[in-house]
Amino acid sequence: MFKQKNLIFIGAPGAGKGTISALVLAEQPLVHISTGDLLRDEIKRDTQLGREASTLMKAGKLVPDEVVAGMVRSRLSQPDCRKEGFILDGFPRTIRQAELLADALRELGTQLDRVVYLKVDDDLLLQRLTARQNCRKCGAIYNKIFQPSKQENICDKCGGELFQRPDDSLETAKSRLEVFYRQTQPLIDYYDKLGLLLTITETDKAKIMATLEKELA
Ligand code: ADP
Ligand code: ZN
Repeated sequence: MFKQKNLIFIGAPGAGKGTISALVLAEQPLVHISTGDLLRDEIKRDTQLGREASTLMKAGKLVPDEVVAGMVRSRLSQPDCRKEGFILDGFPRTIRQAELLADALRELGTQLDRVVYLKVDDDLLLQRLTARQNCRKCGAIYNKIFQPSKQENICDKCGGELFQRPDDSLETAKSRLEVFYRQTQPLIDYYDKLGLLLTITETDKAKIMATLEKELA
């Protein structure tokens, strides 16, 4: 169990934020806040916000800072986040978002404990991204190369159909990495200066978990 419970996970697309979050959540009842998931939910419900976000997401571009920060703020103000702690997955992605987050946390009378940076080489990131599959029904994540389902295109967990997200093509993947280095990399220095950064260069899941258990204890 972690003592440090208010966490941010930073990593390029494909770095494994989602996978590692899921492993952490299996052990600890933190609230998982993924802006990617929140946005995809808006798209599914065909809201105004979802329609605007959809075009940007397909192009591998970021949704405006104020929009995502607003979604996160309203989620953070719910009582379970205070009680259990939270993992922010995929947010903040820009310095502006980090500032809006700091404002929101201050207003809520709480603070960050640690920022976990999953640092992975570009080659591996591109390989992972372009081979990724999601389950249509339960959202489980597979990878055709690294973590294939037992039966091709069928979810091991629920039998649902696996599909490739439109933002997982090679061209889009490259563009997303470029966006990461340009807009999100500065956050790493920002949180390092605040003394909150924990950089993990392991790519093995078990080793990453062992490091987290030691560092966040
Ligand atoms: P991954 O988990 O593969 O890194 P996400 O699912 O977090 O990607 O995000 C998918 C897309 O949703 C992003 O490419 C971007 O368009 C949008 N998005 C998600 N989070 C944010 C954010 N914090 N700021 C701006 N756009 C975001
Ligand atoms: Zn499934």
